[in-house]
Amino acid sequence: MSSKPDASRPRAADTKKVHIADTQMTRQNWYKHVNWLNVTFIIGIPLAGCIQAFWVPLQLKTAIWAVIYYFFTGLGITAGYHRLWAHCSYSATLPLRIWLALVGGGAVEGSIRWWARDHRAHHRYTDTDKDPYSVRKGLLYSHLGWMVMKQNPKRIGRTDITDLNEDPVVVWQHRNYIKVVLTMGLIVPMLVSGLGWGDWYGGFVYAGILRIFFVQQATFCVNSLAHWLGDQPFDDRNSPRDHIITALVTLGEGYHNFHHEFPSDYRNAIEWHQYDPTKWTIWTCKQLGLAYDLKQFRSNEIEKGRVQQLQKKIDQKRAKLDWGTPLDQLPVMEWDDYVEQAKNGRGLISIAGVVHDVTDFIKDHPGGKAMIKSGLGKDATAMFNGGVYYHSNGAHNLLSTMRVGVIRGGGEVEIWKRAQKENSEYVRDETGQRIIRAGQQVTKIPEPIPTADAA
Ligand SMILES: [Zn+2]
Ligand SMILES: [Zn+2]
Repeated sequence: MSSKPDASRPRAADTKKVHIADTQMTRQNWYKHVNWLNVTFIIGIPLAGCIQAFWVPLQLKTAIWAVIYYFFTGLGITAGYHRLWAHCSYSATLPLRIWLALVGGGAVEGSIRWWARDHRAHHRYTDTDKDPYSVRKGLLYSHLGWMVMKQNPKRIGRTDITDLNEDPVVVWQHRNYIKVVLTMGLIVPMLVSGLGWGDWYGGFVYAGILRIFFVQQATFCVNSLAHWLGDQPFDDRNSPRDHIITALVTLGEGYHNFHHEFPSDYRNAIEWHQYDPTKWTIWTCKQLGLAYDLKQFRSNEIEKGRVQQLQKKIDQKRAKLDWGTPLDQLPVMEWDDYVEQAKNGRGLISIAGVVHDVTDFIKDHPGGKAMIKSGLGKDATAMFNGGVYYHSNGAHNLLSTMRVGVIRGGGEVEIWKRAQKENSEYVRDETGQRIIRAGQQVTKIPEPIPTADAA
């Protein structure tokens, strides 16, 4: 038999300590909010490197080596941590996985397991509180703040990383992370320039510390800049954006709007002329037999997303334009009343059963005042549609903005049928706005009808 819990005793949750990240930051406790280990890694050590650089002359060979090692370690993050392990956008042979785990470790951005877990949460919960580096918390937060300040790990969205736990390379790298970081981050770059051309200290400072700083800042831009700068050709409901500057900075991770839409595509840039050295590296590895199963979305799917976003932009533009009062919102006029008002000097003209007030337009009529005046108070449907002049699409559009009423019975055309067409059959956009396409204006009569004076 189960006994009822004792209401007088505090429940387990109440007695649990509140995580520091969930408390208000004050003058007294601010230092508890700071993740000092990360501050040392991403701010303290680079700062120390900058200071040391004053005493250590930069040799050309060391500079070239630092740049090369920058690309190796940067690609370890983009081609390895990101596209291989976080997104499984291709498969890699064991030698390539070992290489990527090593050079990726040299970028000093945490273990593959930790990095990929957070990144999967970032994709799954983009821009929400469960996104570990949500740009909604500020650009600086998404760049550095999320590491510098302590985060309650329980608030980060849950993701499945069973596949990573089954990859012995990932598990090994996670267990030996500190050794990997020291070896690949500092010792290897120093050994190469030390044994190679005797520049031990330069290798340590430039190819080691300062190179780590640049790789870190560059790849952090995927979380900040790529969610802040550029266009959104595929979907604008979330923050990811495409921009060449971000691509240049991040070894090709700058087409981030595309990437969030199609994360398991091994490419970020889909056009040949866009800068994506990570894609080129993966492709080259495939040619060398080191990578296989490169995943790619069909261009049909990609273009569907692009068209939908374009459509949305068009809808927004269309909604800002004056398309004239919809027919069902116009007052109904008797024919005799229409004629009477026109006779009394109001510039009314009926075309396709729709009454337009052209008083202010008479002087601007491109066909001359006399021509437009000859239609006032009459049924000018045929005149307007080729009887006298075959008016342009622009003219029909302009005419619709001058609508003031509809004629009961319609005159030369069966107006109610046409009204029905405009109001129910016309396609509407997602906000319910009518889409009036060129040549489909209600005043446009497909076949010119013989001129007739209904009056
Ligand atoms: Zn992102
Ligand atoms: Zn990603």
